[in-house]
Amino acid sequence: MLSHQTKENPVFNIEQLFNNQKLTSLVWRDSSASERIDRLKKITAWIKEHQQEIRDALMSDFGKPEAETDLSEIFPVTAEINHSIKNLKKWMKPKSVSTPLPMLGTSGKIYFEPKGTSLIISPWNYPFNLTIGPLISALSAGCTAIIKPSELTPHTSKLVSNMITDLFEPNEVAVVLGEVEVSTELLKLPFDHIFFTGSPAVGKIVMKAASENLSSVTLELGGKSPVILDEDADFKDAAEKIVWGKFVNCGQTCIAPDYILVHESQRETLLSEMKVALQKMYDPDYKGIEKSPDMARIVNDKHFKRLTGIIEDALSKGAALAFGGKHSPHTRYIEPTLLTEVTDEMQVMQEEIFGPILPIQTYSTLEKAIAYVNSKPKPLALYYFGQNSENTSKTLRETSSGNAVINDCVLHFLHLGLPFGGVNTSGIGKSHGYHGFLAFSNEKGVLKQRVGLNNVTLLRPPYGIKAKQII
Ligand code: NAD
Repeated sequence: MLSHQTKENPVFNIEQLFNNQKLTSLVWRDSSASERIDRLKKITAWIKEHQQEIRDALMSDFGKPEAETDLSEIFPVTAEINHSIKNLKKWMKPKSVSTPLPMLGTSGKIYFEPKGTSLIISPWNYPFNLTIGPLISALSAGCTAIIKPSELTPHTSKLVSNMITDLFEPNEVAVVLGEVEVSTELLKLPFDHIFFTGSPAVGKIVMKAASENLSSVTLELGGKSPVILDEDADFKDAAEKIVWGKFVNCGQTCIAPDYILVHESQRETLLSEMKVALQKMYDPDYKGIEKSPDMARIVNDKHFKRLTGIIEDALSKGAALAFGGKHSPHTRYIEPTLLTEVTDEMQVMQEEIFGPILPIQTYSTLEKAIAYVNSKPKPLALYYFGQNSENTSKTLRETSSGNAVINDCVLHFLHLGLPFGGVNTSGIGKSHGYHGFLAFSNEKGVLKQRVGLNNVTLLRPPYGIKAKQII
């Protein structure tokens, strides 16, 4: 049995940890909104006090610029906490439902009970945000949590572990550090809910393991998120938004635009606007993008080799380099790279890119662009740029994706009123705000009958012709 080390507990048995959390979850089941809010407030206070340490950890892990850490790791977490604090009482309140005719005299309500014990497995690409975000939902719903952060970002994962040890008892929330074997061991335990963020391949492993205990799952996965640029898009505006959405975090974003489908009449306009946008954002002094303080690096050598391999594969099969392509193994820098003349035979169009490479394809009719998207697994996000409302709603109606954004990209992550997540291969279940709270809650339907009111005698024997009167 694997062990878990904390400051206070030199050696901790994982099964024991789980059993202790199970006992706490029975007590937390009855926790009030204000008790849950107190737990959330502790996190905000800790973040405020340790903001620089969070930035330093992310910088050490993959050269993430401080401003990007503030914007995409710290802000989404504090915003999620504030949103929960503001709404939790309302979310927790049992919801009355209307009474159907045959049930007259009864009343029905939906209660939101905490599922109980939860497991949160998180990825490396937004290692603070995507670990603490689900924890906020778990705590809002009244669940305990064991967290397994990614081994690929050791500085941030260690910091998260310190944070949790500072704020919670291990029987409430605990971090277990480690690699696949630790995850595998944790997945054998009968958690009430498993919240996994990571690749579709590992998502399948998680779902299979969860089925052994029939634990419910939220799977936040990935895939190839397309951008469709219609003829009448505002190309300057679109190029700036796509450049930011694609190259923030050096392209290592689950909802980053993965490939572009642009109307054939507008490819050159798009390319020239994207080059202008890249210059403006990442190279305003003409010193080269590599010198930009705002460009992160690739997380490790394995991913660096994978990404440079994708560029080589595309170029060797006839793709054209419209921009970028430079790279440096020592610093794991890859220049933002735009590829044209790409085909489905190239790796770049076959797998989730997850790095600063953007293939651009053209289409002749919107029907063809939609058919292309529909020939691939359902994406996590779909982005449409255009001003024709008929084409906009056609695209929304005729494609399926976890989320969709019109005339922008990536931004929906920050809209806490919207459910966030994928569909089928890009994910199962939703997160953020109320939807995150729901993921960790059991919606318990409760029917209340009045003593002595016997309005269902029709349902009981002797049936005679009574049953026939009902249908
Ligand atoms: P990953 O699937 O390799 O790893 C995620 C977590 O699972 C890590 O903690 C890892 O230790 C663990 N893990 C790895 N192999 C395992 C196994 N065999 N059994 C059990 N656990 C295992 O993903 P990653 O490389 O960290 O992240 C990148 C992927 O995550 C991309 O596909 C990206 O699109 C996706 N992602 C999705 C979202 C979202 O919100 N939908 C957000 C970020 C990343």
